[in-house]
Amino acid sequence: MARVGIMGGTFDPVHHGHLVTAEEARVQFTLEHVYFVPNRFPPHKQLDGVTDPEHRFRMTSLAVRTNPRFSVARLEIDRPGPSYTIDTLLALRAGHSARDLYYITGADAILQIVRGEWERSAELLTLCQYIAASRPGFPIDVHDLRRYNVTRQHLDNLHVIEIPALSISSTDIRRRVAEGRPIRYLLPDEVAAYIAEHGLYRPPVRSLQ
Ligand code: ATP
Ligand code: MG
Repeated sequence: MARVGIMGGTFDPVHHGHLVTAEEARVQFTLEHVYFVPNRFPPHKQLDGVTDPEHRFRMTSLAVRTNPRFSVARLEIDRPGPSYTIDTLLALRAGHSARDLYYITGADAILQIVRGEWERSAELLTLCQYIAASRPGFPIDVHDLRRYNVTRQHLDNLHVIEIPALSISSTDIRRRVAEGRPIRYLLPDEVAAYIAEHGLYRPPVRSLQ
C-alpha cells in the first residue's frame, strides 16, 4: 500500500522549515504524498492571537502549489472544536495501516507527544509511524526517549531525520512582520505577498492622539 505523510501544524504562517521537513521526509521514506493538515484551533497553544483558519489554509495552499506531491487537507479545519491529532489519525487510519501512515513532526512536537502532553498520547504512538525532524534548540535522541515510558514498539515506530538546521519559526516570522523587519526567503514569496495583502501580523495602528 502507498505510504502517505501527514504534516500537522498551525502554519501561522507556513514557512520553509515546514516545507524542507516535509520534502526530506517524503524522499527518505518514499512517501507517495504528503498532506499538510492545518489545525482549526491548536489545543496546546494560546487561542487568542491564532490567525483565522481560512487564512492559514490559504497560505498553506499557496506554499504547496508547486509540489505535485504535497497538498493541504481541510479535515481539521472543518471539524468543530479544538483539533486533536488523535481524531485526525483515527479518521485517516480508515484507509491506511499503521505501517503506511507517517506523521511528520519537528523535534519539539514529538517530545511533547512522548511526554504525554497531547490528547491520548500513548494511543497516538500506536496509530502510525512518526518522523521527527531535528530542530534547533530541540536535540532529539531516540534512546533518550526511554525515560518517558516509551515502549520498544513505540520506539520502532519513531524515526529521526536530520534536516538542515533551519531556525525558522512562525513565531519569529510574526514578530518580524509586527516589527517591520524582512521575512523574504524565510517562506515562499506567495505567502509573504498574502501576508502583506491581508495585513496579517501587523500590530493594531495606534492613534496619534
Ligand atoms: P510557532 O512558532 O507558532 O509554534 P512553528 O514554526 O513551530 O510555529 P507549527 O505550525 O507550530 O510551526 O509547526 C508545525 C510542525 O512543524 C511541528 O511539528 C513543528 O515541530 C514543525 N516545525 C516547525 N518549524 C520547523 C523547522 N524550522 N524545522 C523542523 N520542523 C519544524
Ligand atoms: Mg510550533
